[in-house]
Amino acid sequence: MLKLIKKIKRNLKQKLFKNEKIETTYHCKMDDELKYFCREAYFKKFKTFNPVAFEEDWNKYINLKPFKINENIFDVLKDEPNACNFYDERVHFIIRNATQFRLTQAFEAMKIDMTDPNVRIVPEEGNIGTPGRIAKMYVGANLHDDSELLCGRWTYKPRIASFPEDEEGYTFVEKGIPITKMLDLTAVCSHHLAPFSTDFKTEAYAIISYIPDEDMLGISKLPRLAQWIGSRGWLQEDLTKAIYKEVKEVAKTSNVYVKLYKIVHTCESIRGAKSKKGSFTTEAYGGAFKRKKLRDQVIQGL
Ligand SMILES: [Zn+2]
Repeated sequence: MLKLIKKIKRNLKQKLFKNEKIETTYHCKMDDELKYFCREAYFKKFKTFNPVAFEEDWNKYINLKPFKINENIFDVLKDEPNACNFYDERVHFIIRNATQFRLTQAFEAMKIDMTDPNVRIVPEEGNIGTPGRIAKMYVGANLHDDSELLCGRWTYKPRIASFPEDEEGYTFVEKGIPITKMLDLTAVCSHHLAPFSTDFKTEAYAIISYIPDEDMLGISKLPRLAQWIGSRGWLQEDLTKAIYKEVKEVAKTSNVYVKLYKIVHTCESIRGAKSKKGSFTTEAYGGAFKRKKLRDQVIQGL
Protein backbone atom coordinates (compact mmCIF):
# COMPACT_ATOMS: atom_id res chain seq x y z
CA MET A 1 0.00 0.00 0.00
CA LEU A 2 2.73 2.37 1.06
CA LYS A 3 4.65 1.50 -2.08
CA LEU A 4 1.65 2.27 -4.20
CA ILE A 5 1.20 5.70 -2.58
CA LYS A 6 4.89 6.43 -3.10
CA LYS A 7 4.58 5.44 -6.75
CA ILE A 8 1.56 7.70 -7.25
CA LYS A 9 3.36 10.57 -5.57
CA ARG A 10 6.42 10.04 -7.76
CA ASN A 11 4.33 9.96 -10.91
CA LEU A 12 2.52 13.12 -9.89
CA LYS A 13 5.81 14.86 -9.18
CA GLN A 14 7.20 13.84 -12.56
CA LYS A 15 4.06 15.05 -14.24
CA LEU A 16 4.21 18.41 -12.48
CA PHE A 17 7.88 18.77 -13.27
CA LYS A 18 7.20 17.95 -16.90
CA ASN A 19 4.54 20.65 -17.11
CA GLU A 20 6.81 23.13 -15.44
CA LYS A 21 9.54 22.41 -17.94
CA ILE A 22 7.24 22.91 -20.88
CA GLU A 23 6.09 26.19 -19.45
CA THR A 24 9.65 27.45 -18.93
CA THR A 25 10.67 26.73 -22.50
CA TYR A 26 7.49 28.36 -23.76
CA HIS A 27 8.24 31.54 -21.77
CA CYS A 28 11.83 31.67 -22.98
CA LYS A 29 10.74 31.41 -26.58
CA MET A 30 8.15 34.14 -26.11
CA ASP A 31 10.66 36.41 -24.40
CA ASP A 32 13.18 35.90 -27.21
CA GLU A 33 10.53 36.88 -29.73
CA LEU A 34 9.53 39.87 -27.63
CA LYS A 35 13.12 41.06 -27.39
CA TYR A 36 13.67 40.58 -31.11
CA PHE A 37 10.52 42.55 -31.92
CA CYS A 38 11.53 45.42 -29.60
CA ARG A 39 15.10 45.47 -30.93
CA GLU A 40 13.95 45.76 -34.54
CA ALA A 41 11.62 48.62 -33.65
CA TYR A 42 14.34 50.31 -31.56
CA PHE A 43 16.93 50.18 -34.36
CA LYS A 44 14.43 51.63 -36.78
CA LYS A 45 13.20 54.38 -34.47
CA PHE A 46 16.57 55.59 -33.19
CA LYS A 47 18.39 54.93 -36.49
CA THR A 48 21.08 52.98 -34.72
CA PHE A 49 22.30 49.46 -35.15
CA ASN A 50 24.26 49.55 -31.94
CA PRO A 51 23.35 46.34 -30.12
CA VAL A 52 25.19 47.50 -26.97
CA ALA A 53 22.97 50.58 -26.66
CA PHE A 54 19.88 48.45 -27.11
CA GLU A 55 21.09 45.87 -24.60
CA GLU A 56 21.60 48.62 -22.00
CA ASP A 57 18.11 50.01 -22.52
CA TRP A 58 16.59 46.54 -22.65
CA ASN A 59 18.10 45.76 -19.25
CA LYS A 60 16.68 49.01 -17.86
CA TYR A 61 13.28 47.89 -19.12
CA ILE A 62 13.62 44.38 -17.68
CA ASN A 63 14.75 45.72 -14.29
CA LEU A 64 12.01 48.31 -14.00
CA LYS A 65 9.81 47.22 -11.10
CA PRO A 66 6.05 47.09 -11.64
CA PHE A 67 4.19 49.96 -10.00
CA LYS A 68 0.55 50.55 -9.23
CA ILE A 69 -1.91 51.33 -11.99
CA ASN A 70 -2.68 54.70 -10.32
CA GLU A 71 0.94 55.72 -9.81
CA ASN A 72 3.27 57.83 -11.94
CA ILE A 73 6.69 56.43 -12.73
CA PHE A 74 8.54 59.62 -11.76
CA ASP A 75 6.81 59.61 -8.38
CA VAL A 76 7.88 56.00 -7.94
CA LEU A 77 11.48 56.79 -8.93
CA LYS A 78 11.72 60.09 -7.07
CA ASP A 79 13.98 58.63 -4.38
CA GLU A 80 16.42 57.33 -6.97
CA PRO A 81 19.37 59.73 -7.28
CA ASN A 82 19.18 59.76 -11.06
CA ALA A 83 15.83 58.55 -12.31
CA CYS A 84 16.88 58.67 -15.98
CA ASN A 85 19.33 55.86 -15.24
CA PHE A 86 16.22 53.72 -14.94
CA TYR A 87 13.68 55.32 -17.23
CA ASP A 88 13.83 57.63 -20.22
CA GLU A 89 12.37 58.14 -23.70
CA ARG A 90 14.11 55.03 -25.09
CA VAL A 91 12.96 52.77 -22.26
CA HIS A 92 9.46 54.16 -22.73
CA PHE A 93 9.68 53.25 -26.42
CA ILE A 94 10.58 49.67 -25.49
CA ILE A 95 7.66 49.54 -23.03
CA ARG A 96 5.26 50.70 -25.75
CA ASN A 97 6.55 48.13 -28.24
CA ALA A 98 6.55 45.31 -25.70
CA THR A 99 2.92 46.21 -24.94
CA GLN A 100 2.09 46.14 -28.64
CA PHE A 101 3.72 42.71 -28.96
CA ARG A 102 1.81 41.28 -26.01
CA LEU A 103 -1.46 42.79 -27.22
CA THR A 104 -0.95 41.18 -30.63
CA GLN A 105 -0.70 37.86 -28.79
CA ALA A 106 -3.89 38.70 -26.90
CA PHE A 107 -5.61 39.39 -30.24
CA GLU A 108 -4.39 36.04 -31.55
CA ALA A 109 -5.65 34.37 -28.37
CA MET A 110 -9.05 35.91 -29.09
CA LYS A 111 -8.88 34.46 -32.62
CA ILE A 112 -8.97 37.88 -34.22
CA ASP A 113 -7.92 37.66 -37.85
CA MET A 114 -4.71 39.71 -37.94
CA THR A 115 -4.74 39.93 -41.75
CA ASP A 116 -7.80 42.20 -41.54
CA PRO A 117 -6.58 45.57 -42.87
CA ASN A 118 -8.51 47.31 -40.06
CA VAL A 119 -6.40 45.71 -37.33
CA ARG A 120 -3.28 44.66 -39.23
CA ILE A 121 0.20 45.92 -38.33
CA VAL A 122 2.22 47.00 -41.37
CA PRO A 123 5.50 48.35 -39.95
CA GLU A 124 6.88 49.24 -43.41
CA GLU A 125 4.01 51.66 -43.85
CA GLY A 126 4.28 52.94 -40.30
CA ASN A 127 0.92 51.34 -39.48
CA ILE A 128 0.99 50.11 -35.88
CA GLY A 129 -2.34 48.30 -36.21
CA THR A 130 -4.95 48.02 -33.50
CA PRO A 131 -2.59 46.42 -30.92
CA GLY A 132 -0.17 49.31 -31.49
CA ARG A 133 -2.93 51.90 -31.16
CA ILE A 134 -4.13 50.33 -27.90
CA ALA A 135 -0.52 50.23 -26.65
CA LYS A 136 -0.27 53.96 -27.41
CA MET A 137 -3.56 54.58 -25.62
CA TYR A 138 -2.25 52.81 -22.50
CA VAL A 139 1.38 53.96 -22.57
CA GLY A 140 1.29 57.25 -24.49
CA ALA A 141 3.38 58.18 -27.54
CA ASN A 142 6.22 59.66 -25.49
CA LEU A 143 7.11 61.24 -22.14
CA HIS A 144 5.24 64.45 -23.01
CA ASP A 145 2.07 62.92 -24.43
CA ASP A 146 -0.88 64.09 -22.33
CA SER A 147 -3.59 62.91 -24.70
CA GLU A 148 -3.93 59.22 -23.91
CA LEU A 149 -6.05 57.27 -21.43
CA LEU A 150 -3.26 55.92 -19.22
CA CYS A 151 -0.43 58.29 -20.13
CA GLY A 152 -0.38 59.79 -16.61
CA ARG A 153 1.57 56.73 -15.47
CA TRP A 154 4.45 57.57 -17.81
CA THR A 155 4.71 61.31 -18.31
CA TYR A 156 6.27 64.27 -16.53
CA LYS A 157 4.11 66.17 -14.12
CA PRO A 158 2.79 69.41 -15.67
CA ARG A 159 4.44 72.50 -14.27
CA ILE A 160 2.22 74.83 -12.33
CA ALA A 161 3.44 78.33 -11.78
CA SER A 162 2.70 79.95 -8.45
CA PHE A 163 2.88 83.66 -7.65
CA PRO A 164 3.22 85.51 -4.38
CA GLU A 165 -0.30 86.55 -3.47
CA ASP A 166 0.26 90.30 -3.58
CA GLU A 167 1.78 90.31 -7.06
CA GLU A 168 0.16 92.76 -9.42
CA GLY A 169 -2.96 91.44 -11.06
CA TYR A 170 -3.89 89.23 -8.17
CA THR A 171 -4.65 91.84 -5.56
CA PHE A 172 -8.33 91.79 -6.51
CA VAL A 173 -8.75 88.41 -4.84
CA GLU A 174 -10.13 89.04 -1.43
CA LYS A 175 -8.28 87.26 1.35
CA GLY A 176 -9.87 84.06 2.57
CA ILE A 177 -12.19 83.75 -0.43
CA PRO A 178 -12.08 80.40 -2.25
CA ILE A 179 -10.95 80.32 -5.86
CA THR A 180 -12.82 77.65 -7.76
CA LYS A 181 -12.06 76.01 -11.07
CA MET A 182 -14.53 73.80 -12.88
CA LEU A 183 -12.96 71.26 -15.19
CA ASP A 184 -13.49 68.32 -17.51
CA LEU A 185 -12.02 65.12 -16.26
CA THR A 186 -11.75 61.64 -17.73
CA ALA A 187 -10.12 58.68 -16.02
CA VAL A 188 -10.32 54.93 -16.44
CA CYS A 189 -11.45 52.52 -13.75
CA SER A 190 -8.78 50.19 -12.48
CA HIS A 191 -11.16 47.23 -12.63
CA HIS A 192 -12.07 47.35 -16.33
CA LEU A 193 -9.91 50.11 -17.84
CA ALA A 194 -13.21 51.61 -19.00
CA PRO A 195 -13.48 55.42 -18.90
CA PHE A 196 -15.43 57.37 -16.32
CA SER A 197 -15.88 61.03 -17.03
CA THR A 198 -17.61 64.35 -16.54
CA ASP A 199 -18.48 64.08 -20.26
CA PHE A 200 -21.25 61.53 -20.05
CA LYS A 201 -23.94 63.52 -18.19
CA THR A 202 -24.88 67.17 -18.63
CA GLU A 203 -25.07 67.86 -14.89
CA ALA A 204 -21.71 66.20 -14.19
CA TYR A 205 -18.73 68.32 -13.21
CA ALA A 206 -15.40 68.29 -11.43
CA ILE A 207 -14.27 71.23 -9.32
CA ILE A 208 -11.11 72.19 -7.53
CA SER A 209 -11.47 74.97 -5.01
CA TYR A 210 -8.76 76.38 -2.76
CA ILE A 211 -8.07 79.36 -0.54
CA PRO A 212 -4.63 80.78 -1.30
CA ASP A 213 -2.25 80.98 1.58
CA GLU A 214 1.10 82.46 0.55
CA ASP A 215 0.96 81.55 -3.12
CA MET A 216 -1.53 81.94 -5.95
CA LEU A 217 -1.57 79.18 -8.53
CA GLY A 218 -1.67 79.65 -12.27
CA ILE A 219 -5.22 78.38 -12.11
CA SER A 220 -5.50 77.59 -15.82
CA LYS A 221 -3.00 74.80 -15.22
CA LEU A 222 -5.12 73.02 -12.60
CA PRO A 223 -7.14 71.07 -15.20
CA ARG A 224 -3.91 69.78 -16.71
CA LEU A 225 -2.69 68.65 -13.32
CA ALA A 226 -6.00 66.92 -12.57
CA GLN A 227 -6.02 65.23 -15.98
CA TRP A 228 -2.41 64.08 -15.52
CA ILE A 229 -3.49 62.34 -12.32
CA GLY A 230 -6.71 61.10 -13.94
CA SER A 231 -4.91 59.43 -16.85
CA ARG A 232 -4.25 56.29 -14.83
CA GLY A 233 -6.40 53.46 -13.48
CA TRP A 234 -8.53 54.61 -10.54
CA LEU A 235 -11.35 54.11 -8.14
CA GLN A 236 -13.19 57.43 -8.20
CA GLU A 237 -12.84 58.00 -4.44
CA ASP A 238 -9.07 57.46 -4.59
CA LEU A 239 -8.77 59.75 -7.62
CA THR A 240 -10.62 62.49 -5.72
CA LYS A 241 -8.25 62.12 -2.77
CA ALA A 242 -5.19 62.07 -5.05
CA ILE A 243 -6.18 65.35 -6.75
CA TYR A 244 -6.86 66.89 -3.33
CA LYS A 245 -3.43 65.79 -2.08
CA GLU A 246 -1.60 67.09 -5.14
CA VAL A 247 -3.33 70.51 -5.11
CA LYS A 248 -2.66 70.77 -1.38
CA GLU A 249 1.00 70.24 -2.15
CA VAL A 250 1.35 72.67 -5.07
CA ALA A 251 -0.80 75.38 -3.45
CA LYS A 252 0.97 74.85 -0.11
CA THR A 253 -2.30 75.00 1.82
CA SER A 254 -4.70 72.49 3.33
CA ASN A 255 -7.65 74.71 2.36
CA VAL A 256 -8.52 72.59 -0.63
CA TYR A 257 -11.81 71.14 -1.81
CA VAL A 258 -12.25 68.67 -4.67
CA LYS A 259 -15.61 67.39 -5.82
CA LEU A 260 -16.45 65.01 -8.66
CA TYR A 261 -20.19 65.22 -9.26
CA LYS A 262 -22.47 62.71 -11.01
CA ILE A 263 -19.67 60.91 -12.78
CA VAL A 264 -20.81 58.16 -15.14
CA HIS A 265 -18.68 55.02 -15.24
CA THR A 266 -18.88 53.31 -18.62
CA CYS A 267 -18.06 49.93 -17.05
CA GLU A 268 -21.49 50.25 -15.46
CA SER A 269 -23.40 52.24 -18.09
CA ILE A 270 -22.50 50.49 -21.34
CA ARG A 271 -21.73 46.97 -20.11
CA GLY A 272 -22.56 44.79 -17.10
CA ALA A 273 -25.49 46.40 -15.35
CA LYS A 274 -25.98 48.78 -18.33
CA SER A 275 -27.42 51.28 -15.91
CA LYS A 276 -28.22 54.56 -17.62
CA LYS A 277 -29.08 56.37 -14.40
CA GLY A 278 -26.12 55.47 -12.22
CA SER A 279 -23.49 58.04 -11.35
CA PHE A 280 -21.05 58.67 -8.51
CA THR A 281 -20.29 61.75 -6.49
CA THR A 282 -17.15 61.99 -4.38
CA GLU A 283 -15.50 64.74 -2.33
CA ALA A 284 -12.21 65.33 -0.59
CA TYR A 285 -11.48 68.41 1.52
CA GLY A 286 -9.41 69.82 4.34
CA GLY A 287 -8.66 73.00 6.29
CA ALA A 288 -11.40 75.63 6.11
CA PHE A 289 -13.46 73.39 3.83
CA LYS A 290 -14.22 71.08 6.73
CA ARG A 291 -17.04 73.56 7.30
CA LYS A 292 -20.00 72.34 5.27
CA LYS A 293 -21.24 75.90 4.93
CA LEU A 294 -18.15 76.90 2.99
CA ARG A 295 -18.43 73.88 0.70
CA ASP A 296 -22.10 74.67 0.10
CA GLN A 297 -21.16 78.25 -0.73
CA VAL A 298 -18.68 77.06 -3.36
CA ILE A 299 -21.24 74.74 -4.95
CA GLN A 300 -23.94 77.44 -4.91
CA GLY A 301 -21.57 79.84 -6.61
CA LEU A 302 -20.94 77.52 -9.58
ZN1 LIG B 1 -14.98 49.40 -13.66
